[in-house]
Amino acid sequence: MTTQELTWAARAGAVRPVTDAVIGGELAAARSGRRRDSINPATGTVLAQVSECGAEDIDAAVLAGRAAFESGSWSQADPGSRKRVLQRLAELIVANADELALLDTLDAGKLISDTTQVDVPGSAAIIQWYAEAIDKLYGEIAPTASTELALVTREPLGVVGAVVPWNYPLEMAVWKLAPALAAGNSVVLKPAENSPLSALRLGQLALEAGLPEGVLNVVPGDGPTAGRALGLHPDVDALTFTGSTEVGKLFLQYAGASNMKQVWLECGGKSANLVFPDVADLDAAAEAVCAGIFTCGGQVCSANSRLLVHESIKDALLERVVARAEAIRVGDPLDESSQMGPMVSAEHADRVMGLIEVARGEGRIRTGGDRVAGSPTSAFLQPTVVDDIAPDARIAQEEVFGPVLAVFGFGDEREAVTLANGSSYALAASVWSDSHSRVHRVAQRLRAGTVSVNCVDALDVTTPFGGFGLSGFGRDLSLHALDKFTGLKTTWHHHN
Ligand code: NAD
Repeated sequence: MTTQELTWAARAGAVRPVTDAVIGGELAAARSGRRRDSINPATGTVLAQVSECGAEDIDAAVLAGRAAFESGSWSQADPGSRKRVLQRLAELIVANADELALLDTLDAGKLISDTTQVDVPGSAAIIQWYAEAIDKLYGEIAPTASTELALVTREPLGVVGAVVPWNYPLEMAVWKLAPALAAGNSVVLKPAENSPLSALRLGQLALEAGLPEGVLNVVPGDGPTAGRALGLHPDVDALTFTGSTEVGKLFLQYAGASNMKQVWLECGGKSANLVFPDVADLDAAAEAVCAGIFTCGGQVCSANSRLLVHESIKDALLERVVARAEAIRVGDPLDESSQMGPMVSAEHADRVMGLIEVARGEGRIRTGGDRVAGSPTSAFLQPTVVDDIAPDARIAQEEVFGPVLAVFGFGDEREAVTLANGSSYALAASVWSDSHSRVHRVAQRLRAGTVSVNCVDALDVTTPFGGFGLSGFGRDLSLHALDKFTGLKTTWHHHN
């Protein structure tokens, strides 16, 4: 073991997670007294016993959010003061970076190298970005007759419910709450069952930063109970969700069955990576193909899980991809030299293995296809590449959310675009080619919320992120995200 490993392991032992909800500025155990074991998927050990909140806790959180909103302590606060509070929150995330990174690593099995370099600094940067935006947003004056003055302003909606998944626990929460809070709303955040710890700590840090009580409430609980209660709550004005398409559809039903709250959905994906024969550097493309699917063990909504490659270079590219996949070090997420950790849970690993078995019957496994022998738990899977698949096969259509790459050959540009668009998801796509005109043509025709050219999974707080079709609607990140959390109001003055 290296010194760094010992250091992370030692620090991990010292982490004392917050295990209760943050409601109305206080820590609160579930009213039912129920708790759920939070399991470290890398070791199978119980990390903490977290309050398992239900409908009555969600109700208390919404009530606290509404009271805070009506008091104006945040919703009516000067933009400059809201900005300073969110800036302080970003600073506190940086100051507590190691702890937050460890919480996500221990809770969700994410690599410590990712949580320290991507998730935590990324979350702080996003909050900082929206903090800075707060006092730079202007309203409008409509071009009316000179006897009239029509002011158009953006108003916060009220109480925003946010339900998030486990793959980027801290960052997904921040994608939602940073623009919602920046716009002046109160938020009730429900983290995923598998990964509530960093969100609970964030709720505490927000209070420390000076966010008034009740403005950010964090309520851990399971989806069908706490998530459903938030979706159905009659006093929630908007619900922003990231997770599976199946559950996204439920939120539309909840809204229809309750108060017609606005619903914004970021759901699944089956993103295509198109590699054309005029790609400049096949090694770079192979490296990116692997990063596109094996980052975070493929548990990424925009994972490039379909590789579409021109027949003339298919063998050469696949040889490189397989060699790289086989070289990936799957291991302890606390070890900085690991390149892939466990799946988020043993149950999820079983689900992925089930789909790998389906793929075995549908195509040819070029590498992987099994669990990693000798691992401490059953959650460690091999990077897997499947070839010779029909475009309508299950493994070609279904989101695996694991380290499984499905490979297809194509003969020409038209076939490539047809294959890429032959999915009910439409979240992201990548195009590899050295021809500017080809890239331009293909990118225009791809149905995807983001098209990355000669790179994979391009993403930044400055650009909108989201999809079409079963990948959902509404956009996270960028100033456009503020549209979801504000309503336009016209105030009309008539004078003689
Ligand atoms: P999931 O849909 O099972 O759970 C997401 C959230 O919904 C969790 O907080 C969960 O508790 C809650 N939930 C579950 N059942 C519910 C119910 N019946 N009613 C109300 N809430 C319920 O998804 P997951 O397994 O946590 O995450 C994986 C999925 O998330 C994948 O499909 C992935 O593509 C998607 N995802 C999408 C994006 C994106 O931005 N498009 C980003 C990350 C993950």
